[in-house]
Amino acid sequence: MGLLVCKFGGSSVASIEKINNVAVRVKNMQSEGNSIVVVVSAMGDTTDELLALAHTIGNELNLREMDALLATGEQQSAALLALTLNNMGIKAISLTGWQAGVHSDSNYSKARISSIDTKRLEKELMAGKAVVVAGFQGISSDGDITTLGRGGSDTSAVALAASLKADRCMIFTDVDGVYTADPRIVKEAQKLPVISYEEMLEMASLGAVVMQPRAVEFAMLYNVEVEVRSSFNLQPGTIITEVSDMEHQRIVTGVTHDTKCAKIGLYDLPDKPGVASLIFNKLAQAGVNVDMVIQSATRKEHNDIAFTISSDDLPLALPVIENLVKEIGASGMSYGDKVAKVSIVGAGMQSNPGVAAAMFAALAEENINIQMISTSEIKVSCIIDEDSIDTAVKALHRKFKLDQLSC
Ligand code: ASP
Ligand code: MG
Repeated sequence: MGLLVCKFGGSSVASIEKINNVAVRVKNMQSEGNSIVVVVSAMGDTTDELLALAHTIGNELNLREMDALLATGEQQSAALLALTLNNMGIKAISLTGWQAGVHSDSNYSKARISSIDTKRLEKELMAGKAVVVAGFQGISSDGDITTLGRGGSDTSAVALAASLKADRCMIFTDVDGVYTADPRIVKEAQKLPVISYEEMLEMASLGAVVMQPRAVEFAMLYNVEVEVRSSFNLQPGTIITEVSDMEHQRIVTGVTHDTKCAKIGLYDLPDKPGVASLIFNKLAQAGVNVDMVIQSATRKEHNDIAFTISSDDLPLALPVIENLVKEIGASGMSYGDKVAKVSIVGAGMQSNPGVAAAMFAALAEENINIQMISTSEIKVSCIIDEDSIDTAVKALHRKFKLDQLSC
């Protein structure tokens, strides 16, 4: 019993029938004595459809207007859910992001929440209503509508749970929870009962598309316990929380993969200060997010730099790099998007040597060549050939015995 913030993703509200199922769930949770704030995404693929529609107008689109357009998707599902709840005899009210007091900066299309004024929400909750909030949106200090980046309803939910000091934030989605690997690739993959914020953050950033990484960051910052669970069954999901007890830290918790990677190499760059700064500044100015970077050992006065980006950013990055080759006097460049990233994540690896070595051995046993490596305290990632990705994920899952999960 308490205050629950429940977020339902696009696939959970994709039709009136599904909205009806959500309403039944809300009704049941309420009848158990809980106060409920529901955060919804847009129905099904609405956001993509609105984007595609706008792009029939042209490609250079004003971001303020795009946010005004995209925010309508969540407003539809919020109002439809409130109507359905009302129809079932449940007092409910829908609120847009700005009606719910969600303030953000004015970075259109990827705005960050700056504060939440919960007065209105509290008033409606006090009146015994289920409050349905349109996710993914806020209002800037100029009074303009903003959106919070793709998948941003997760962040709306976690931020609302933090501001309202909710007892739990539940993310209802089309998967049962967080798995040790993608169950579509590894049939022995196990659902994790609990995962730490740090591990979830790595997993979400490395390609496990369960929750928006920024939402996990927010949860960690404000210590909001989040449960990811299915909206289509009643099974418990995965709880994302603080796992501080070293005893309970698994060495490897999961294997993730991401096939939306591209690799770019620059050859025979002059080995002097300022070259890397120039390259990565130009890429940043073009809005390209760089992931892994490697620089080769110096050969006389030259070296090579290779890096990875999201394959979606390749069209943005290529003209920048082609210009840089001329400007810096490199001997050439190469690129390819037939690469993928496979990673192992686990909080226990910081205190257990040999984990990276075991990963490289598992890949070598499958004759998979490692093109790039990057590590952090709790993850090791390798760039490999895209065609080997399924084999790599399966081999690593076996190597670290993730099918025999004990905690
Ligand atoms: N509807 C938005 C999107 O598709 C936000 C969300 O689903 O969380 O990205
Ligand atoms: Mg989503």
